[in-house]
Amino acid sequence: MRAWEKNCRRVEPYVPGEQPNIEGMIKLNTNENPYPPAPGVLQAIQDFNVDKLRLYPDDKSTMLVESLAEYYKVDKEQVFVGVGSDDVLGMAFLSFFNSDKPILFPDITYSFYEVWANLYKIPYEMPALDEDFRIKKEDYYKENGGIILANPNAPTGICEDLTFIEDILQHNQDVIVIVDEAYIDFGGKSALELIDRYENLLVVQTFSKARSMAGMRIGYAIGNKELIKIINDVKYSYNSYTMNQTSLYYGVEAVKDDAYFRENLAKIVEERERTVVELEKLGFTCTDSKTNFLFVKHSTVSAGDLLAMLREKNIFVRRFANSPRISNYLRISIGTKEEMDSLFAALKEYIE
Ligand code: PMP
Repeated sequence: MRAWEKNCRRVEPYVPGEQPNIEGMIKLNTNENPYPPAPGVLQAIQDFNVDKLRLYPDDKSTMLVESLAEYYKVDKEQVFVGVGSDDVLGMAFLSFFNSDKPILFPDITYSFYEVWANLYKIPYEMPALDEDFRIKKEDYYKENGGIILANPNAPTGICEDLTFIEDILQHNQDVIVIVDEAYIDFGGKSALELIDRYENLLVVQTFSKARSMAGMRIGYAIGNKELIKIINDVKYSYNSYTMNQTSLYYGVEAVKDDAYFRENLAKIVEERERTVVELEKLGFTCTDSKTNFLFVKHSTVSAGDLLAMLREKNIFVRRFANSPRISNYLRISIGTKEEMDSLFAALKEYIE
């Protein structure tokens, strides 16, 4: 090893889902929304005054923060925004997980948690989900340096109810509990209604899934004012101008159109339920997903073979090959009806 290498921070990076760019592909591998953002976003793009790009954006992201505060009926001092929820979560790890005791998160969950813990040298433990991929709440009763749970969990799609989240909070009032709600709008109940009662709760959400804006990179956290002040102080110690000019304008437009948002969600939920029925007919078992993806396993054909076959047909789904407990599962995002029909046809031809 060369001397300078000792001074370098070496990490095992997170591997994001592949972003292929193939004409006519069916992309069901990164849980994007198959429908476009709200019409107001397109209008805002057309109306955007390019001269604004000369200037730095508002470091406080006031317009976006205010629109989220109004939408969720909280104070603007309770809202933090970032460049996708990955940015918000990364900042939250840096801000709130600063103990010698291990933070806790499940063995099967969003794999970025382990990467941030390693990056920031935060000790951690990963209690195993049970056989049915449920969180065993007793595992979170012991002393710890903080807790992060994705609810619904990813990649299982399984959602716990608020009684469960509240039980975790009641047992952990001396540490910060982060609930990552990237997929909450597709059928779960948000822990946002608990923030007034639990000052140590931070709820994180995103525009990437339910609001069809993964490409815009907008995420946010809501919690009590003190938590938001702490995470903002850390943000200003790292990069003050996080949100670019355009994301502020387009984000506000997405929040405004609640009718479009609800309509879009209903279509995806309906398609998810139809997909479960179709996949079960083909011999798959699906977890009870409350998200815009399904986590599935076939009774006889391996996930690796299915993934390869689908890829040949330019249908992209995701497999977590390096995670032994789930390596025989596929995670399939819910696309349009036409996209799902193509998926069923490909699977049918191969399996039957
Ligand atoms: N949390 C979970 C559970 C996710 O699956 C994702 C998407 N990869 C994210 C957070 C991050 O999403 P984004 O940065 O696009 O908001």
